[in-house]
Amino acid sequence: MAKILCVLYDDPIAGYPKTYPRTDIPKLNSYPDGMSLPTPHHIDFNPGDLLGSVSGELGLRKFLETQGHTFIVTSDKDGQNSVFEKELPDADIVISQPFWPAYLTSERLAKAQKLKLAITAGIGSDHVDLEAAISRGITVTEVTYCNSISVAEHVVMAILALVHNYIPSYKTVVNKGWNIADCVSRAYDVEGMNIGSVAAGRIGLAVLRRLKPFDVKLHYTDRHRLPESIEKELNVTFHPNVESLVSVCDVVSINCPLHPETEHLFDDDLISKMKRGSYIVNTARGKICERDAIVRALESGQLAGYAGDVWFPQPAPKDHPWRTMPHHGMTPHVSGTTLSAQARYAAGVREILECWFENRPIREQYLIVNQGKLAGMGAYSYSAGNTTGGSEEAEKFKKS
Ligand code: NDP
Repeated sequence: MAKILCVLYDDPIAGYPKTYPRTDIPKLNSYPDGMSLPTPHHIDFNPGDLLGSVSGELGLRKFLETQGHTFIVTSDKDGQNSVFEKELPDADIVISQPFWPAYLTSERLAKAQKLKLAITAGIGSDHVDLEAAISRGITVTEVTYCNSISVAEHVVMAILALVHNYIPSYKTVVNKGWNIADCVSRAYDVEGMNIGSVAAGRIGLAVLRRLKPFDVKLHYTDRHRLPESIEKELNVTFHPNVESLVSVCDVVSINCPLHPETEHLFDDDLISKMKRGSYIVNTARGKICERDAIVRALESGQLAGYAGDVWFPQPAPKDHPWRTMPHHGMTPHVSGTTLSAQARYAAGVREILECWFENRPIREQYLIVNQGKLAGMGAYSYSAGNTTGGSEEAEKFKKS
């Protein structure tokens, strides 16, 4: 029997919800490219309920315990005295969410002698030292596509919020003010702007598609080019590298995974090649941007705004400068964990576990590392290596 260690974010401060604003969520038949949604034999939760916090347990307890497995759920993930660190040495499977990542550094993996499977309840397995997972023969999986559209919607919202200066205007009302000039002296339309995506994978392409009706000029860069028919349909310009893309764009949306090629991609040098007064929306991973370079660019006016929901480390320390820098539209890491997305990734985790326990192959699309090498989506979209360096700083949030 296996021991499954699951790290989820804390319940709401007011307690686990007894009711929800809506009674159901829409039922989707497939993802936009035809890929099927998760197909577990069964689910033991109500789609639309809060599953990503500790009491939600991803709806897995009944399924795991009736089979005799041990299921431990905690939010206490950082530091040597954390529940996670204490339970890790004899865990067979770790489940973690990017929103509240249980960093699996090489030091932690060295202590986890029994660990065979790491499941990301979401997309993005950069919180795992993939190099160490490869050398230890640990399988790493994620629930590809489960929240890509959730994020794409958030990106469009963030672009409009920044360019139209929505958040300061909202604050004006809450603060009982009415100075319209204050609100509009940084407000523009996106119509006619050049908007580019770094990567045109599931999220990047969905962002481009959603922006097309705004009559903007679309751009992208990626390691693999989109089919010609899609480039024509969207009238989108391909750039062979990110430098070329940022030099023409007014708004840049970052949608690539974090791996050694993309770590600190947006540093002082790249930002200096952007048009003055550009906006960046980064919902991919905080570490793709160099933290202090973003702050400097907002202070100097090189950037007119920065938004997104991803930080490094997570949770962000209370003194993280992105909380207080000018002209930002940051949220905690929420875009991929709407109640709608949770139903999909909880079902996807269940599908992966069912396959694992029944000795059936896990979908290729869900594999990042398998049998000692990058596999499936991992082989297509990642490069091997480690991007967890510095993650121990996440403990600062608990202490402050
Ligand atoms: P996909 O795998 O569908 O797309 C990733 C794309 O990034 C691929 O097209 C890949 O290219 C491209 N890419 C990889 N490296 C580079 C590079 N160096 N330069 C340009 N493009 C590159 O994943 P999704 O679109 O679903 O998700 C993307 C990322 O977004 C995730 O890895 C995760 O980090 C983040 N994410 C954030 C969420 C949130 O809640 N904020 C939720 C979900 C995801 P190719 O395959 O052609 O090599």
